Amino acid sequence: MQIKAAVVRERSGPFVIDTVELCAPREDELIVRVVASGMCQTDLHGRDGYFDSPYPAVYGHEGSGVVHAVGSAVHGLAPGDHVVMSYPWCGDCANCRQHKLNYCLHGRRLKSNRTRADGSTLLSKNGAPVYSAYFQQSSFGTFALTQERYAVKVRKDAPLELLGPLACSGQTGAGAVLNVMKPKPGDSFAVFGAGAVGLSALMAAKIAGCDPIIAVDIHDHRLALARELGATHTINHGGSSGVVGEIQKITGGGARYALETSAVPAVFREAIECLMPAGTCVLLGSARKGSEVSFEMPFLQQGRVVRGVVQGDSMPQEFIPRLVGLIMDGKFPIEKMIKFYDLADINLAAQESSTGIAIKPVLRMPAG
Ligand SMILES: [Zn+2]
Ligand SMILES: [Zn+2]
Repeated sequence: MQIKAAVVRERSGPFVIDTVELCAPREDELIVRVVASGMCQTDLHGRDGYFDSPYPAVYGHEGSGVVHAVGSAVHGLAPGDHVVMSYPWCGDCANCRQHKLNYCLHGRRLKSNRTRADGSTLLSKNGAPVYSAYFQQSSFGTFALTQERYAVKVRKDAPLELLGPLACSGQTGAGAVLNVMKPKPGDSFAVFGAGAVGLSALMAAKIAGCDPIIAVDIHDHRLALARELGATHTINHGGSSGVVGEIQKITGGGARYALETSAVPAVFREAIECLMPAGTCVLLGSARKGSEVSFEMPFLQQGRVVRGVVQGDSMPQEFIPRLVGLIMDGKFPIEKMIKFYDLADINLAAQESSTGIAIKPVLRMPAG
């Protein structure tokens, strides 16, 4: 079928809205009419050639929409169902067999190769391949093809155009808190970076009853939103000479939990150094290959834990519906961080995402 999609024709080139051909679904696949898609830094990393994959290419991995057509072996979803498309996994590797789907040994390849696992492509233009299947979805288009197991059915009374970001930034941030840290009421929490991931984590920390909740960022408008969403204290990193000291003062000796979302090595070090003994620092920021960080070895001897987490250790089929429930209860007001753009304005969305004007751009797809 013919669809409209935002195609990147060469490395770091602009998104160009074009008509392309989407193949028919295989037996375990489905086609989703995309209603909206979040844009995440990882999409822009793909555009800019971080993954060494070919062009032309279509990105997007935070798609929400309505099931349009299903393959013959799809039984859990039917046309008309509302779905969020989440991250891919192979189902066969040592981690998938232990249900650690977010650490799938083939996950990286399935996310960034822009083909199916067998190398086939989903999109074409005049018979030539257009590389898609980004996170096995490529949601920057009017329709997307994914597998049944990556599509999460969500309740129909929820506002579908808000739900795409749950597939990546939402479950990454909220999952790091609710699935990994599991704080108790009154535990101190500090988040470095008040972007979509950091603010999702902050909303989860509030749900868990953390106190104090400290947000660190370089943009005042993000810190203002952090306060609105539950931060008890905010620190502008640019205006502070000693972030670690400030956090120690607020918490009375260090934070029990710190979350790093900036991917800046010097900030990661601060997130470690602000911990109390037996505190835990979780790294979510996705740094480029070759980035290194250092800290003093004795620091870990006090029972401190430093670890990385992917996709918030979330099992999407359970966690995304839970987050949708929190949105419907008014406890996870994700709409406050979203700025909507029409698909035609995708380059503006990318620019405003990079400069920090838009915290979470969401693209609305045209009909058809
Ligand atoms: Zn796997
Ligand atoms: Zn993402």
